[in-house]
Amino acid sequence: MNVAKVIVDVPSFAIDQTFDYEIPDRFTHVLTPGMRVIVPFGPRKIMGFVVEITDTSSFNKLKPIEEVLDLVPVLTKELLDLGKWLAHRTLSLSIVALQVMLPQVLKSKYKKEINRLSGEVLSDELEDLFQGRDVIPFEEFEASALNYQHLKKAVDAGEVQIDYIVKSKITKKFETFVYPKKEIHLLEEALHDLSQSARKQRAIIEFFIENPQEIKQKSLLQTIGTTTSTVKALIDKGLLDTYQKETYRNPYNDDAIERTDPLPLKPEQQQAIEPILASIENNEHEVILVHGVTGSGKTEIYLQAIQEVIKKGKEAIVLVPEISLTPQMVKRFKGRFGRNVAVMHSALSAGEKFDEWRKIQRKEVQVVVGARSAIFSPFENLGIIIIDEEHETSYKQEDQPRYHARDVAIKRGMDQNFPVVLGSATPTLESYARAAKGVYKLATLTKRTNDKPLPEVITVDMRSELHAGNRTMFSRLLMEKIRDCIAKGEQIVLLLNRRGYSTFIMCRDCGHVKECPHCDIALTYHKNSHLLKCHYCSYEEAVPNVCPECSSDLIRYFGTGTQRVEESLTQLIPEARVIRMDVDTTRRKGAHEKLLREFSEHKADILLGTQMIAKGLDFENVTLVGVLTADSMLHLPDFRSSEKTFQLLTQVSGRAGRHDLPGEVIVQTYTPDHYSIELASEYNFEDFYKKEMAMRRAFRYPPYYYLALITITHENHVQVVQATQQFVQQLLMKVGPETIILGPTPSPIPRIKDRYRYQCMIKYKHEPELRTFIQEVTNNFKEQIQKHDLQVIVDMQPYQMM
Ligand code: ADP
Ligand code: ZN
Ligand code: ZN
Repeated sequence: MNVAKVIVDVPSFAIDQTFDYEIPDRFTHVLTPGMRVIVPFGPRKIMGFVVEITDTSSFNKLKPIEEVLDLVPVLTKELLDLGKWLAHRTLSLSIVALQVMLPQVLKSKYKKEINRLSGEVLSDELEDLFQGRDVIPFEEFEASALNYQHLKKAVDAGEVQIDYIVKSKITKKFETFVYPKKEIHLLEEALHDLSQSARKQRAIIEFFIENPQEIKQKSLLQTIGTTTSTVKALIDKGLLDTYQKETYRNPYNDDAIERTDPLPLKPEQQQAIEPILASIENNEHEVILVHGVTGSGKTEIYLQAIQEVIKKGKEAIVLVPEISLTPQMVKRFKGRFGRNVAVMHSALSAGEKFDEWRKIQRKEVQVVVGARSAIFSPFENLGIIIIDEEHETSYKQEDQPRYHARDVAIKRGMDQNFPVVLGSATPTLESYARAAKGVYKLATLTKRTNDKPLPEVITVDMRSELHAGNRTMFSRLLMEKIRDCIAKGEQIVLLLNRRGYSTFIMCRDCGHVKECPHCDIALTYHKNSHLLKCHYCSYEEAVPNVCPECSSDLIRYFGTGTQRVEESLTQLIPEARVIRMDVDTTRRKGAHEKLLREFSEHKADILLGTQMIAKGLDFENVTLVGVLTADSMLHLPDFRSSEKTFQLLTQVSGRAGRHDLPGEVIVQTYTPDHYSIELASEYNFEDFYKKEMAMRRAFRYPPYYYLALITITHENHVQVVQATQQFVQQLLMKVGPETIILGPTPSPIPRIKDRYRYQCMIKYKHEPELRTFIQEVTNNFKEQIQKHDLQVIVDMQPYQMM
């Protein structure tokens, strides 16, 4: 067994295969599949994943593996298989499919060290190497005469562990502490000897005489009002000393979270949990769709199902959308399972994320709560995967590999025989249709646990506002309700329903809109810097004073950015205190939480924001929800726009009246008769589902048809059109007669970063060989792809149509 099959880190279409390498003696019995290695590749040395170990190769002379990066595999056997499946499903490179499963830290530069685990007795050789230290750099091991097998044995026996230290994070992980080196009476003596002019030094000594314990250097310096040089002077005198204390990068203070007990389930909850428990009990894969209105107690069902899984000694993955992974949400899981929970959130630093991932890898936790990529958690004994808000589009990755977390969850559940639970108040049509056909089990929760009715929704026709002479973006009714609410000391959530929250500039004389010179898209006006910026490339320019087309000076800003809404809101209601939440105000780490905390402490009356405020928030004092422009998404070139509008309106309505105070929702719209707005205001999912299914059937969209979107880009316009035409023709010859190929057409954004974009959309019902066909056709363009910089992007089951 001295041949390793390796997938190397060269993201190229031509190299998407395994390569054979010889395993040198020092690595036999050490190397297992799932480990990363360094191998020679041409003139370079690169990283690769060992996917298989065999004893034969069809090649004669193999190059040896240079270095082994892990002594414990970073990918389990299951994940290696999953990677294969993922690459095939999404038509991605194998290396990309494997990389996506690992935390960022393992992809960047780091230092390795060997940590001795407390209380463990080591072999004599290792004791020699450690020489009484707790930690040694990995290089010391490599320089020693010890072999890898020896070390691996110690790792497997839990005597030592290999840690990866991300270089840039070291400073964050440690803090300096200062402590007195002498007893108090000696400090007093020293004080006596210190010159009167050394005022700061004296102050520090006086401080330690009164508080003879260690203290964070930072706090000490603050208290005394001095700098490190003063401390250093005292260290030199032998009076003080410092040491580095490791502070665990735990972003959540677990001990401060109050523990909760399972609640006795309501009848509807009981019914919903039964099929889940049965599936856990029987080790049988099943997908259960929990369709429950907001506040119906879905999360409590998840918690109790997980408890069963833990009881069986198994593990659980809970996916929640990035933006609802709020401290409130984390608290509910940590409140029930305490330290048994890891949290994978993109707001964590790379080091923090890695810490959480290591807890999973080392089996220190049984539950992970996280955003999309947590679906790849390296658990080896999974008992359940739960996807909350399963309709969220953020579960689809819009970059290679273009996977949907739901598909990955079901694949893992099928292979490992455990249930997958999908929860939502507004399930996707795809999932609901599967439940209707009996492919999934359906559990329905119609009541809120507090027995309060869902808040009443009033739609306001903005056309009649305009006719009545109201040119503001706030209807009279909404104004009145907001004033009322503030007067009563209650709070308001205002949603600006826009995907782009951007403002563009347009000439009022000729209608010219300023676009990016590299991308065919309007530039966005940024008020603070007074610049026009492109959201697709980094282009920016100053705002022109006159129109570049007609020289008119009537240049105006258009679009309703949150900033502008805030301005006109405070003009109309000067007493209103507003917190604005959008990409601009939440860019900094922790800003999101801070704004939400301030709102919950009633430091503002109104929370104004984009989609990010619609999800998962739960504020006792919110009694009014206003939607400023309900229909702004309806006209986007996306067949899901009605569905998304319905989902968003339902979600945001659920933010009002969650507690004792009754809630109310005002929805402003120019199309009050549109079925998605009408039915959302009645919370009528069933009818919406029927109506929308009829549309999808008529226009041949999912769930009646599957989709594949192929985008081809090139710097030359003529070449991209030609290539896309050829692509479509070649594909048409392969697919069945019922398959439809639309295009070539220019992409909705026809040029990005100076590359022209054309696309074709494949609609199919049954085309089992489609992936192979697409690969074959792509292969015919191989030369162009390599030489002429042609790019082919395949998105199976696309969500982003723009
Ligand atoms: P959802 O996830 O469906 O929006 P939650 O799980 O957040 O609903 O439940 C809404 C509220 O009801 C929460 O405050 C929760 O603690 C409470 N709750 C859930 N189940 C029960 C129950 N069986 N008895 C009493 N209160 C419950
Ligand atoms: Zn003009
Ligand atoms: Zn641009």
